[in-house]
Amino acid sequence: VHLQTDLSLKPFNTLSIDATATGLAQVADYSELLQALEWAQQRGLPVLPLGEGSNLVVAGDIDGLLLKQGSDKVELLDASDDTVLLKVDAGKDWHQLVQWTLAQGYFGLENLALIPGAVGAAPIQNIGAYGVEVESFISRVHGVDLATGKTLALAHADCQFGYRDSVFKGALRDKVIITSVEMQLSRHSHPRCHYPALNAWLEDHGITDASAQQVFEAVVAIRSSKLPDPAVEPNAGSFFKNPVIPSAQVQALLAQHPEMPVYPLSHTQAKVPAAWLIDRCGWKGQRDGDVGVHPQHALVLVNYGNCSGSELLAFARRITNSVSEGFGVALEIEPRIYG
Ligand code: FAD
Ligand code: NAP
Repeated sequence: VHLQTDLSLKPFNTLSIDATATGLAQVADYSELLQALEWAQQRGLPVLPLGEGSNLVVAGDIDGLLLKQGSDKVELLDASDDTVLLKVDAGKDWHQLVQWTLAQGYFGLENLALIPGAVGAAPIQNIGAYGVEVESFISRVHGVDLATGKTLALAHADCQFGYRDSVFKGALRDKVIITSVEMQLSRHSHPRCHYPALNAWLEDHGITDASAQQVFEAVVAIRSSKLPDPAVEPNAGSFFKNPVIPSAQVQALLAQHPEMPVYPLSHTQAKVPAAWLIDRCGWKGQRDGDVGVHPQHALVLVNYGNCSGSELLAFARRITNSVSEGFGVALEIEPRIYG
Protein backbone atom coordinates (compact mmCIF):
# COMPACT_ATOMS: atom_id res chain seq x y z
CA VAL A 1 0.00 0.00 0.00
CA HIS A 2 1.19 3.49 -0.80
CA LEU A 3 0.15 5.38 2.34
CA GLN A 4 0.79 9.05 3.08
CA THR A 5 -0.12 10.67 6.37
CA ASP A 6 -0.98 14.28 7.32
CA LEU A 7 -0.86 15.36 3.73
CA SER A 8 -2.29 18.34 1.86
CA LEU A 9 -5.29 17.47 -0.30
CA LYS A 10 -4.76 20.37 -2.72
CA PRO A 11 -3.56 18.11 -5.58
CA PHE A 12 -6.37 15.63 -4.94
CA ASN A 13 -9.44 17.83 -5.57
CA THR A 14 -10.23 19.81 -8.72
CA LEU A 15 -11.37 22.83 -6.65
CA SER A 16 -7.76 22.90 -5.46
CA ILE A 17 -8.76 23.48 -1.84
CA ASP A 18 -5.94 23.19 0.64
CA ALA A 19 -6.79 21.11 3.72
CA THR A 20 -5.19 18.06 5.28
CA ALA A 21 -6.22 14.43 5.77
CA THR A 22 -4.96 12.01 8.41
CA GLY A 23 -4.11 9.58 5.65
CA LEU A 24 -4.43 8.74 1.99
CA ALA A 25 -3.93 5.18 0.76
CA GLN A 26 -3.46 4.40 -2.92
CA VAL A 27 -4.21 0.71 -3.38
CA ALA A 28 -3.55 -1.52 -6.38
CA ASP A 29 -5.66 -4.57 -5.55
CA TYR A 30 -7.98 -6.25 -3.05
CA SER A 31 -5.24 -7.34 -0.63
CA GLU A 32 -3.85 -3.78 -0.45
CA LEU A 33 -7.39 -2.50 0.02
CA LEU A 34 -7.78 -4.82 3.05
CA GLN A 35 -4.46 -3.60 4.47
CA ALA A 36 -5.67 -0.01 4.18
CA LEU A 37 -8.98 -0.85 5.90
CA GLU A 38 -7.05 -2.51 8.73
CA TRP A 39 -4.77 0.53 9.11
CA ALA A 40 -7.84 2.75 9.50
CA GLN A 41 -9.61 0.33 11.84
CA GLN A 42 -6.59 0.17 14.17
CA ARG A 43 -6.72 3.95 14.49
CA GLY A 44 -10.51 4.20 14.71
CA LEU A 45 -10.60 6.30 11.53
CA PRO A 46 -13.42 6.37 8.97
CA VAL A 47 -12.52 5.32 5.41
CA LEU A 48 -13.61 7.71 2.66
CA PRO A 49 -13.48 6.63 -0.99
CA LEU A 50 -11.71 9.03 -3.34
CA GLY A 51 -11.54 9.10 -7.13
CA GLU A 52 -10.13 12.09 -9.02
CA GLY A 53 -11.71 14.58 -6.61
CA SER A 54 -13.80 16.28 -9.32
CA ASN A 55 -17.08 16.15 -7.41
CA LEU A 56 -15.81 16.95 -3.97
CA VAL A 57 -15.69 19.92 -1.59
CA VAL A 58 -13.04 19.63 1.10
CA ALA A 59 -14.76 21.75 3.75
CA GLY A 60 -12.01 21.40 6.36
CA ASP A 61 -9.30 19.04 7.59
CA ILE A 62 -10.35 15.41 7.28
CA ASP A 63 -9.98 13.09 10.23
CA GLY A 64 -10.00 9.88 8.24
CA LEU A 65 -8.33 7.72 5.64
CA LEU A 66 -9.00 8.56 2.01
CA LEU A 67 -8.85 5.48 -0.17
CA LYS A 68 -7.96 5.79 -3.85
CA GLN A 69 -7.80 2.85 -6.22
CA GLY A 70 -5.12 2.48 -8.86
CA SER A 71 -6.18 -0.59 -10.79
CA ASP A 72 -7.50 0.30 -14.26
CA LYS A 73 -7.93 -3.06 -15.99
CA VAL A 74 -10.66 -3.53 -18.60
CA GLU A 75 -11.84 -7.10 -19.06
CA LEU A 76 -14.06 -8.42 -21.86
CA LEU A 77 -16.47 -10.75 -20.04
CA ASP A 78 -18.76 -11.62 -22.91
CA ALA A 79 -19.39 -10.77 -26.56
CA SER A 80 -22.20 -11.50 -28.99
CA ASP A 81 -22.89 -10.19 -32.49
CA ASP A 82 -24.81 -7.30 -30.93
CA THR A 83 -23.28 -6.48 -27.55
CA VAL A 84 -20.19 -6.71 -25.35
CA LEU A 85 -20.00 -6.96 -21.58
CA LEU A 86 -17.01 -5.19 -20.03
CA LYS A 87 -15.74 -5.25 -16.46
CA VAL A 88 -13.84 -2.03 -15.77
CA ASP A 89 -11.76 -1.41 -12.65
CA ALA A 90 -12.56 1.62 -10.50
CA GLY A 91 -9.23 3.36 -11.12
CA LYS A 92 -9.72 3.68 -14.89
CA ASP A 93 -10.04 7.26 -16.10
CA TRP A 94 -13.61 7.78 -17.38
CA HIS A 95 -12.78 9.74 -20.52
CA GLN A 96 -10.02 7.28 -21.48
CA LEU A 97 -12.58 4.48 -21.21
CA VAL A 98 -14.97 6.37 -23.50
CA GLN A 99 -12.19 6.85 -26.08
CA TRP A 100 -11.04 3.23 -25.84
CA THR A 101 -14.56 1.77 -26.24
CA LEU A 102 -15.18 3.82 -29.37
CA ALA A 103 -11.86 2.73 -30.85
CA GLN A 104 -12.90 -0.91 -30.31
CA GLY A 105 -16.28 -0.35 -32.00
CA TYR A 106 -18.19 -0.60 -28.71
CA PHE A 107 -20.85 2.11 -28.78
CA GLY A 108 -23.00 4.00 -26.28
CA LEU A 109 -20.70 6.14 -24.12
CA GLU A 110 -20.03 8.86 -26.72
CA ASN A 111 -22.37 11.48 -25.17
CA LEU A 112 -20.50 11.07 -21.86
CA ALA A 113 -17.12 12.12 -23.28
CA LEU A 114 -14.84 14.43 -21.30
CA ILE A 115 -16.57 13.98 -17.93
CA PRO A 116 -13.71 14.13 -15.41
CA GLY A 117 -13.20 11.41 -12.83
CA ALA A 118 -12.63 7.71 -12.37
CA VAL A 119 -14.89 4.82 -13.39
CA GLY A 120 -15.50 3.88 -9.73
CA ALA A 121 -17.25 7.22 -9.16
CA ALA A 122 -19.48 7.04 -12.25
CA PRO A 123 -22.30 5.05 -10.58
CA ILE A 124 -22.29 7.26 -7.46
CA GLN A 125 -24.26 10.09 -9.03
CA ASN A 126 -25.20 8.18 -12.20
CA ILE A 127 -23.14 10.59 -14.31
CA GLY A 128 -25.06 12.12 -17.17
CA ALA A 129 -24.70 14.62 -19.97
CA TYR A 130 -26.22 15.51 -23.34
CA GLY A 131 -29.32 13.40 -22.77
CA VAL A 132 -27.60 10.17 -21.66
CA GLU A 133 -27.04 8.64 -18.21
CA VAL A 134 -24.46 5.98 -17.38
CA GLU A 135 -27.06 3.71 -15.75
CA SER A 136 -28.28 2.69 -19.23
CA PHE A 137 -25.06 0.69 -19.62
CA ILE A 138 -24.41 -0.57 -16.08
CA SER A 139 -25.42 -4.16 -15.43
CA ARG A 140 -23.57 -4.79 -12.17
CA VAL A 141 -21.42 -2.92 -9.65
CA HIS A 142 -18.74 -4.72 -7.63
CA GLY A 143 -17.53 -3.38 -4.31
CA VAL A 144 -16.20 -4.03 -0.86
CA ASP A 145 -18.07 -3.54 2.40
CA LEU A 146 -15.96 -1.01 4.30
CA ALA A 147 -16.94 -2.43 7.72
CA THR A 148 -16.27 -6.12 7.03
CA GLY A 149 -13.88 -6.13 4.07
CA LYS A 150 -16.20 -8.57 2.28
CA THR A 151 -16.74 -8.31 -1.46
CA LEU A 152 -20.23 -7.75 -2.83
CA ALA A 153 -22.00 -7.28 -6.16
CA LEU A 154 -25.09 -5.20 -6.86
CA ALA A 155 -27.36 -5.80 -9.84
CA HIS A 156 -28.62 -2.76 -11.76
CA ALA A 157 -31.96 -2.71 -9.88
CA ASP A 158 -30.20 -2.72 -6.49
CA CYS A 159 -28.29 0.45 -7.40
CA GLN A 160 -31.53 2.53 -7.33
CA PHE A 161 -30.31 4.90 -10.02
CA GLY A 162 -32.08 8.23 -10.39
CA TYR A 163 -31.32 11.68 -11.80
CA ARG A 164 -27.75 12.31 -10.48
CA ASP A 165 -28.53 9.79 -7.76
CA SER A 166 -28.05 6.17 -6.62
CA VAL A 167 -28.13 3.94 -3.55
CA PHE A 168 -24.45 4.90 -3.03
CA LYS A 169 -25.61 8.40 -2.10
CA GLY A 170 -28.39 6.94 0.09
CA ALA A 171 -28.50 3.73 2.12
CA LEU A 172 -24.97 2.63 1.11
CA ARG A 173 -23.32 6.03 1.52
CA ASP A 174 -19.92 5.58 3.22
CA LYS A 175 -20.57 1.84 3.56
CA VAL A 176 -19.23 0.50 0.27
CA ILE A 177 -16.27 1.21 -1.96
CA ILE A 178 -16.84 0.41 -5.62
CA THR A 179 -14.01 -1.69 -7.08
CA SER A 180 -15.28 -2.35 -10.62
CA VAL A 181 -18.27 -1.73 -12.87
CA GLU A 182 -19.78 -4.08 -15.46
CA MET A 183 -21.09 -2.32 -18.54
CA GLN A 184 -22.95 -3.60 -21.56
CA LEU A 185 -22.26 -1.72 -24.78
CA SER A 186 -23.57 -2.14 -28.29
CA ARG A 187 -21.61 -3.26 -31.34
CA HIS A 188 -24.00 -1.21 -33.48
CA SER A 189 -23.90 2.55 -33.42
CA HIS A 190 -27.17 4.26 -32.36
CA PRO A 191 -26.18 7.90 -31.84
CA ARG A 192 -28.46 9.97 -29.63
CA CYS A 193 -28.42 13.53 -30.90
CA HIS A 194 -31.75 14.89 -29.61
CA TYR A 195 -30.17 17.04 -26.86
CA PRO A 196 -30.60 20.64 -28.07
CA ALA A 197 -26.98 21.86 -27.73
CA LEU A 198 -25.66 18.71 -29.43
CA ASN A 199 -28.23 18.79 -32.21
CA ALA A 200 -27.50 22.47 -32.87
CA TRP A 201 -23.72 21.87 -33.05
CA LEU A 202 -24.13 19.01 -35.55
CA GLU A 203 -26.50 21.11 -37.68
CA ASP A 204 -24.10 24.07 -37.61
CA HIS A 205 -21.35 21.77 -38.86
CA GLY A 206 -23.49 20.34 -41.66
CA ILE A 207 -23.57 16.84 -40.13
CA THR A 208 -26.88 15.11 -40.81
CA ASP A 209 -26.46 11.38 -40.15
CA ALA A 210 -23.93 11.59 -37.30
CA SER A 211 -21.76 8.59 -36.43
CA ALA A 212 -20.90 7.78 -32.81
CA GLN A 213 -17.40 9.16 -33.44
CA GLN A 214 -18.91 12.44 -34.70
CA VAL A 215 -21.12 12.67 -31.60
CA PHE A 216 -18.03 12.08 -29.46
CA GLU A 217 -16.15 14.84 -31.30
CA ALA A 218 -19.13 17.21 -31.04
CA VAL A 219 -19.45 16.65 -27.28
CA VAL A 220 -15.70 17.19 -26.81
CA ALA A 221 -15.86 20.40 -28.87
CA ILE A 222 -18.93 21.80 -27.07
CA ARG A 223 -17.57 20.96 -23.62
CA SER A 224 -14.11 22.36 -24.38
CA SER A 225 -15.60 25.64 -25.57
CA LYS A 226 -18.08 26.02 -22.70
CA LEU A 227 -16.79 24.47 -19.50
CA PRO A 228 -13.88 25.92 -17.54
CA ASP A 229 -10.87 23.60 -17.31
CA PRO A 230 -10.23 22.81 -13.60
CA ALA A 231 -6.48 22.91 -14.27
CA VAL A 232 -6.82 26.61 -15.18
CA GLU A 233 -9.85 27.69 -13.13
CA PRO A 234 -10.27 25.19 -10.26
CA ASN A 235 -13.91 24.02 -10.07
CA ALA A 236 -16.08 20.96 -9.41
CA GLY A 237 -18.36 21.21 -12.45
CA SER A 238 -22.00 21.96 -11.73
CA PHE A 239 -22.16 23.00 -8.10
CA PHE A 240 -25.97 22.71 -7.83
CA LYS A 241 -28.37 20.06 -9.08
CA ASN A 242 -31.20 21.14 -11.35
CA PRO A 243 -34.21 21.29 -9.04
CA VAL A 244 -37.13 18.97 -9.74
CA ILE A 245 -40.32 20.71 -8.63
CA PRO A 246 -44.09 20.02 -8.67
CA SER A 247 -45.90 21.07 -11.86
CA ALA A 248 -48.26 23.35 -9.89
CA GLN A 249 -45.27 25.34 -8.65
CA VAL A 250 -43.89 25.46 -12.20
CA GLN A 251 -47.18 26.95 -13.43
CA ALA A 252 -47.11 29.59 -10.69
CA LEU A 253 -43.51 30.50 -11.58
CA LEU A 254 -44.28 30.60 -15.31
CA ALA A 255 -47.11 33.06 -14.64
CA GLN A 256 -44.48 35.47 -13.29
CA HIS A 257 -41.57 34.41 -15.52
CA PRO A 258 -42.97 33.16 -18.86
CA GLU A 259 -39.44 32.94 -20.30
CA MET A 260 -38.25 30.38 -17.69
CA PRO A 261 -37.04 27.14 -19.36
CA VAL A 262 -38.88 24.05 -18.09
CA TYR A 263 -38.23 20.36 -18.85
CA PRO A 264 -41.25 18.22 -17.84
CA LEU A 265 -40.30 14.85 -16.32
CA SER A 266 -43.87 13.56 -15.77
CA HIS A 267 -47.41 14.94 -15.42
CA THR A 268 -46.64 16.01 -11.88
CA GLN A 269 -42.98 17.09 -11.93
CA ALA A 270 -40.60 19.18 -14.01
CA LYS A 271 -36.92 20.09 -14.00
CA VAL A 272 -35.89 23.73 -14.02
CA PRO A 273 -32.28 24.69 -14.88
CA ALA A 274 -30.50 25.85 -11.73
CA ALA A 275 -28.22 27.97 -13.93
CA TRP A 276 -31.19 30.06 -15.13
CA LEU A 277 -32.40 30.70 -11.56
CA ILE A 278 -28.89 31.67 -10.38
CA ASP A 279 -28.31 33.92 -13.37
CA ARG A 280 -31.68 35.65 -12.79
CA CYS A 281 -30.65 36.38 -9.20
CA GLY A 282 -27.63 38.22 -10.60
CA TRP A 283 -24.90 35.80 -9.51
CA LYS A 284 -23.22 35.03 -12.82
CA GLY A 285 -19.68 36.45 -12.72
CA GLN A 286 -20.02 37.64 -9.09
CA ARG A 287 -16.96 37.25 -6.95
CA ASP A 288 -16.06 37.62 -3.28
CA GLY A 289 -12.36 37.37 -2.54
CA ASP A 290 -11.06 34.14 -4.02
CA VAL A 291 -14.44 32.53 -4.69
CA GLY A 292 -16.86 33.33 -7.47
CA VAL A 293 -19.42 32.21 -10.03
CA HIS A 294 -17.90 31.67 -13.46
CA PRO A 295 -18.78 34.57 -15.81
CA GLN A 296 -19.93 32.20 -18.61
CA HIS A 297 -21.43 29.43 -16.51
CA ALA A 298 -23.76 30.22 -13.60
CA LEU A 299 -23.59 26.67 -12.20
CA VAL A 300 -19.83 26.61 -11.79
CA LEU A 301 -18.16 27.97 -8.64
CA VAL A 302 -14.47 28.75 -9.06
CA ASN A 303 -11.61 28.93 -6.58
CA TYR A 304 -9.71 31.92 -8.00
CA GLY A 305 -6.83 31.63 -5.55
CA ASN A 306 -6.68 30.09 -2.15
CA CYS A 307 -10.24 30.01 -0.90
CA SER A 308 -11.08 27.56 1.86
CA GLY A 309 -13.86 25.01 1.73
CA SER A 310 -15.85 26.92 4.34
CA GLU A 311 -15.54 30.19 2.37
CA LEU A 312 -16.76 28.37 -0.74
CA LEU A 313 -19.72 26.86 1.11
CA ALA A 314 -20.64 30.20 2.71
CA PHE A 315 -20.69 31.76 -0.78
CA ALA A 316 -22.82 28.84 -2.06
CA ARG A 317 -25.24 29.41 0.82
CA ARG A 318 -25.72 33.05 -0.23
CA ILE A 319 -26.66 31.82 -3.71
CA THR A 320 -29.14 29.21 -2.43
CA ASN A 321 -30.68 31.80 -0.09
CA SER A 322 -31.26 34.29 -2.87
CA VAL A 323 -32.76 31.64 -5.22
CA SER A 324 -35.00 30.53 -2.38
CA GLU A 325 -36.11 34.11 -1.69
CA GLY A 326 -36.54 35.00 -5.38
CA PHE A 327 -38.25 31.85 -6.64
CA GLY A 328 -39.20 29.74 -3.60
CA VAL A 329 -37.03 26.94 -5.02
CA ALA A 330 -34.52 25.06 -2.84
CA LEU A 331 -31.20 24.37 -4.58
CA GLU A 332 -29.22 21.33 -3.54
CA ILE A 333 -25.42 21.12 -3.70
CA GLU A 334 -24.26 18.37 -6.09
CA PRO A 335 -20.67 17.58 -4.96
CA ARG A 336 -19.97 15.53 -1.86
CA ILE A 337 -18.75 17.53 1.14
CA TYR A 338 -15.87 16.02 3.15
CA GLY A 339 -14.29 17.34 6.35
P1 FAD B 1 -14.62 12.11 -6.54
O1 FAD B 1 -14.85 13.54 -6.73
O2 FAD B 1 -13.23 11.69 -6.15
O3 FAD B 1 -15.66 11.48 -5.63
C1 FAD B 1 -17.01 11.90 -5.70
C2 FAD B 1 -17.84 11.10 -4.70
O4 FAD B 1 -17.89 9.75 -5.11
C3 FAD B 1 -17.24 11.08 -3.29
O5 FAD B 1 -18.28 11.16 -2.39
C4 FAD B 1 -16.60 9.74 -3.16
O6 FAD B 1 -16.77 9.22 -1.86
C5 FAD B 1 -17.40 8.89 -4.10
N1 FAD B 1 -16.56 7.87 -4.73
C6 FAD B 1 -15.58 8.08 -5.63
N2 FAD B 1 -15.05 6.90 -6.02
C7 FAD B 1 -15.70 5.94 -5.32
C8 FAD B 1 -15.61 4.52 -5.26
N3 FAD B 1 -14.74 3.83 -6.00
N4 FAD B 1 -16.46 3.85 -4.43
C9 FAD B 1 -17.35 4.52 -3.67
N5 FAD B 1 -17.47 5.86 -3.68
C10 FAD B 1 -16.67 6.56 -4.50
N6 FAD B 1 -20.80 15.00 -13.66
C11 FAD B 1 -21.79 14.56 -14.47
O7 FAD B 1 -22.61 13.72 -14.07
N7 FAD B 1 -21.93 15.03 -15.75
C12 FAD B 1 -21.07 15.93 -16.27
O8 FAD B 1 -21.21 16.31 -17.41
C13 FAD B 1 -20.01 16.42 -15.44
N8 FAD B 1 -19.16 17.36 -15.89
C14 FAD B 1 -18.18 17.85 -15.08
C15 FAD B 1 -17.32 18.84 -15.57
C16 FAD B 1 -16.29 19.35 -14.78
C17 FAD B 1 -15.38 20.43 -15.34
C18 FAD B 1 -16.11 18.85 -13.47
C19 FAD B 1 -14.99 19.35 -12.60
C20 FAD B 1 -16.97 17.87 -12.97
C21 FAD B 1 -18.01 17.37 -13.76
N9 FAD B 1 -18.92 16.39 -13.29
C22 FAD B 1 -19.91 15.91 -14.11
C23 FAD B 1 -18.79 15.85 -11.93
C24 FAD B 1 -17.76 14.68 -11.84
O9 FAD B 1 -16.94 14.65 -12.97
C25 FAD B 1 -18.42 13.31 -11.69
O10 FAD B 1 -19.26 13.29 -10.57
C26 FAD B 1 -17.39 12.18 -11.55
O11 FAD B 1 -18.04 10.94 -11.60
C27 FAD B 1 -16.58 12.28 -10.25
O12 FAD B 1 -15.51 11.36 -10.35
P2 FAD B 1 -14.26 11.45 -9.37
O13 FAD B 1 -13.43 10.23 -9.62
O14 FAD B 1 -13.57 12.73 -9.52
O15 FAD B 1 -14.95 11.33 -7.95
P1 NAP C 1 -27.05 23.21 -21.34
O1 NAP C 1 -26.99 22.40 -22.58
O2 NAP C 1 -26.72 24.67 -21.40
O3 NAP C 1 -28.47 23.02 -20.64
C1 NAP C 1 -28.76 23.68 -19.42
C2 NAP C 1 -29.60 22.81 -18.55
O4 NAP C 1 -30.84 22.54 -19.17
C3 NAP C 1 -28.93 21.48 -18.30
O5 NAP C 1 -28.69 21.40 -16.95
C4 NAP C 1 -29.89 20.43 -18.82
O6 NAP C 1 -30.23 19.43 -17.88
C5 NAP C 1 -31.16 21.17 -19.14
N1 NAP C 1 -31.63 20.72 -20.46
C6 NAP C 1 -31.31 21.26 -21.65
N2 NAP C 1 -31.99 20.63 -22.62
C7 NAP C 1 -32.72 19.67 -22.07
C8 NAP C 1 -33.63 18.70 -22.57
N3 NAP C 1 -33.94 18.62 -23.86
N4 NAP C 1 -34.22 17.87 -21.70
C9 NAP C 1 -33.94 17.94 -20.41
N5 NAP C 1 -33.09 18.84 -19.86
C10 NAP C 1 -32.50 19.71 -20.68
O7 NAP C 1 -26.10 22.52 -20.22
P2 NAP C 1 -24.54 22.66 -19.95
O8 NAP C 1 -24.39 23.28 -18.64
O9 NAP C 1 -23.82 23.21 -21.13
O10 NAP C 1 -24.12 21.12 -19.78
C11 NAP C 1 -24.22 20.22 -20.86
C12 NAP C 1 -24.44 18.82 -20.32
O11 NAP C 1 -23.32 18.42 -19.51
C13 NAP C 1 -25.66 18.71 -19.40
O12 NAP C 1 -26.26 17.46 -19.63
C14 NAP C 1 -25.09 18.80 -18.02
O13 NAP C 1 -25.84 18.08 -17.05
C15 NAP C 1 -23.71 18.15 -18.19
N6 NAP C 1 -22.75 18.73 -17.24
C16 NAP C 1 -22.79 18.33 -15.95
C17 NAP C 1 -21.88 18.83 -15.02
C18 NAP C 1 -21.88 18.33 -13.60
O14 NAP C 1 -20.94 18.63 -12.89
N7 NAP C 1 -22.86 17.59 -13.18
C19 NAP C 1 -20.96 19.78 -15.41
C20 NAP C 1 -20.97 20.20 -16.73
C21 NAP C 1 -21.86 19.67 -17.65
P3 NAP C 1 -29.27 18.15 -17.60
O15 NAP C 1 -28.20 18.68 -16.73
O16 NAP C 1 -30.20 17.22 -16.90
O17 NAP C 1 -28.77 17.61 -18.90
